[in-house]
Amino acid sequence: MAGQVTPESCCPWCGQHQPHAYPKAGDYTVCIKCGRVLVFAKNLTVRKPNAEEIRRLSTSTRLRRHVERIRSALQEMRNRN
Ligand SMILES: [Zn+2]
Repeated sequence: MAGQVTPESCCPWCGQHQPHAYPKAGDYTVCIKCGRVLVFAKNLTVRKPNAEEIRRLSTSTRLRRHVERIRSALQEMRNRN
């Protein structure tokens, strides 16, 4: 009966808590602290990408651009603070 709550998720690489908006399972993101690639699991926590997902990242220009965009947005945020 409770509404769906996005669970707290922490970077498995460095432990940094990840604030996120409306992810879908399988979406790629980047840790706000260490900048490493993360993937949203089915329960919307973040996990390290598996071998298949790492391969997809290295073969898909679209995915790489997505990750690069997040990285540069984070960089801008850091520069502003
Ligand atoms: Zn991290």
